[in-house]
Amino acid sequence: LPAKFAGSETTVWEEFIQLAIENKPLNLGQGFPDFAAPQHVTKALADIVTGENVLLQQYTRGYGHPRLVAVLSKLYSKLVSREINPHNEVIVTAGAYEALYNSILGHVTSGDEVILIEPFFDCYEPMVKLAGGTPVYIPLRPTKTSGTILSSDWKLDPEELAGKFNKNTKAIILNTPHNPLGKVFTVEELNTIADLCKKWNVLCISDEVYEWLVFKPYKHVRICTLPGMWERTISIGSGGKTFSVTGWKTGWAYGPAELLRNLFIVHQNSINSCNTPTQEAIAQGLELELGRFGQPGCYLQSLAVELEKKRDFAAKFLREVGMIPVIPEGGYFMIADWSPLAGKVKLEQETDKYMDYRFAKWMTKNIKLQGIPPSAFYCTEHKNLAENYIRYCFIKKDENLQKAEDILKKWI
Ligand code: PMP
Ligand code: GLN
Repeated sequence: LPAKFAGSETTVWEEFIQLAIENKPLNLGQGFPDFAAPQHVTKALADIVTGENVLLQQYTRGYGHPRLVAVLSKLYSKLVSREINPHNEVIVTAGAYEALYNSILGHVTSGDEVILIEPFFDCYEPMVKLAGGTPVYIPLRPTKTSGTILSSDWKLDPEELAGKFNKNTKAIILNTPHNPLGKVFTVEELNTIADLCKKWNVLCISDEVYEWLVFKPYKHVRICTLPGMWERTISIGSGGKTFSVTGWKTGWAYGPAELLRNLFIVHQNSINSCNTPTQEAIAQGLELELGRFGQPGCYLQSLAVELEKKRDFAAKFLREVGMIPVIPEGGYFMIADWSPLAGKVKLEQETDKYMDYRFAKWMTKNIKLQGIPPSAFYCTEHKNLAENYIRYCFIKKDENLQKAEDILKKWI
């Protein structure tokens, strides 16, 4: 195996998706909605593939279908208050995943350090290594240990963060709203990061796939809108998250042409062009949402309202069974401290090194409820920080969240 693959041979997804296939648990593991996507988007796709415009079944422009890059530039120009050029400041990718890959492979080379904030969405680490870079880790830490704990209580220590930057630092990867904590970084926190990026001339790769899933009164702030940050930020979004169609794997990145250029090159020499029909359907969907932006029917805003109720429901039953949930301000995941239930779990039946893996596996097999072990989102040295936690995805039908409650209460 090439050295660049060391430690990247498998992923938590490979393991837990297989475990779900074998054990058929109620699945609050991998993050995806289990309810229908907005009809205007799914119907658009059906019409596109059965319609008369035969060219929509063929290749489209490599850097992004013209109709999609047009509406993306219109949407983000409005959101970041600057004119975004659809030709060279936006790229459509095979999910946000490919946008991350292109950003990292396009900008990081041997000798570069890349700062990852723990917990981090797991693919950041192997991508940095594949590019020849060295990940540098800094954990968010809970600043509170009793009472209701919010994801905003998990913070970076500004001095510790400053200590991670040096002349070899090429980039920092930010994720807000955050997976798995659900933390929505405040403008103060983003300013701290931005100041360090400017001081050390560092690129910010901002993974904002959950940009629409923010609960009141919190607000999503795009770091590219902070002074001096546009020129050093690549912002990443996902059609799959935006319209609850994760299987469509259509994402994008936007930023200044000088930074996007490298992403274009990686894309051109790997994926080349993404599939046309989903791009067209997402374009039509965004056009419609843009026309009713800020109005009650706008899906970009209404999904978060639905989701907030689900968050509250899940937090309540997790608390009632004795876990300690960390209440998220955004996104669709919640971590919970399961350690008060340790006496009820036969952890010795599993052989994994880390206790969260043992808990997650034992629960999937025996209680038939699946979550994800969050130590997957930490470097080896810091995995112990996550051992008491489990991550649950709560973007599920109410009846399935109710089933999760019933399963846990029956077990307890
Ligand atoms: N970033 C984060 C933080 C995610 O949770 C996900 C979920 N898949 C992605 C990126 C990838 O998004 P996509 O499905 O659009 O590739
Ligand atoms: N983003 C989703 C999650 O965190 C899916 C991850 C994946 O399939 N790699 O669960």
